[in-house]
Amino acid sequence: SAAQSGLNRALIIDQSRARQHTEQLRLGQRLRRDLQRGRLSVHYQPVVDLRTGELRSAEALARWTDEERGPVPPAEFIPLALELNLMPALTRLVLLRAYRVARTTSDLLGRNFRVALNLSAAELHSEDFRERVSRFMTHHPQAAHYLELEVTEQALIHDLPGVSHTLGVLQAQGLSVALDDFGTGYSSLAVLQQLPVNKLKIDRSFVQGLEHDARQRLITTAVVNLARQLNITVVAEGVETARQLQRLREMNCDQVQGYLISRPVSTRQWLEQVHGWTAVPAGPNALLPPRR
Ligand code: C2E
Ligand code: MG
Ligand code: MG
Ligand code: MG
Repeated sequence: SAAQSGLNRALIIDQSRARQHTEQLRLGQRLRRDLQRGRLSVHYQPVVDLRTGELRSAEALARWTDEERGPVPPAEFIPLALELNLMPALTRLVLLRAYRVARTTSDLLGRNFRVALNLSAAELHSEDFRERVSRFMTHHPQAAHYLELEVTEQALIHDLPGVSHTLGVLQAQGLSVALDDFGTGYSSLAVLQQLPVNKLKIDRSFVQGLEHDARQRLITTAVVNLARQLNITVVAEGVETARQLQRLREMNCDQVQGYLISRPVSTRQWLEQVHGWTAVPAGPNALLPPRR
């Protein structure tokens, strides 16, 4: 009967949901275990000066290869880590490695070099996080000058004054703060006024619109000008084409990051890239690393 087949369908859906649920649980257990064993890796993507082609900083991006499923994208394991309260462990892993790579890179370049790490909204709101960062800085007093923190607008909506305070304290210790994925959140321009930020990263979605969308171009130009007037460094992320690069140059954007320059690469590949970079005389044509 119809009722019977409806019931069967409901049962099948139930079973498949239960299976998915079990799969997620197992995936989460493996993530926890791999984190405990330090089996996640971190990739690095360069951020370069649009005018001189010089290497300015790098962004640290977490990578996880699950033994059963293979590479799992951050868009999947970051939410899982959040749900399972594994972000402190993940951030710690990324922080330690980013710091080490920043110091090695600084040595290679003969100047101070920062590596940026991404923070989740929840971390910025937690007192525990602030304490952990302070403790880290006590043990590594130099670290502040080698690190940058990326926060999204999303992290600000619940408690702008609180997060502003936290970031202000961290900034006073020497850390650099970047507002990530700018343009995708709900923030008003007032955020820029209230938040202590050194850098603003224009989201990839705006950069993609630069070639064909006059409106996007206008908005991006306005954001670049505003940031410059506020003395905030502007970075365009997700730059994939030479045309986009040209547009950004016309707008006087400060720095760029994206596949056109380099994909995020392993530590070994990163250090090789830096070696190559030091050999290049800085100039507008030095934007691409010589060896890839
Ligand atoms: P995000 O911070 O905005 O990082 C930039 C993302 O854009 C990275 O994706 C990067 O690989 C990608 N990307 C860079 N250039 C291009 C380009 O030219 N074209 C395209 N299509 N994509 C480009 P990924 O590594 O998959 O990370 C995604 C997001 O996951 C990050 O976005 C960040 O929010 C989060 N995430 C990654 N690692 C961490 C971490 O260690 N901690 C936290 N809290 N979040 C992380
Ligand atoms: Mg980021
Ligand atoms: Mg970003
Ligand atoms: Mg983004």
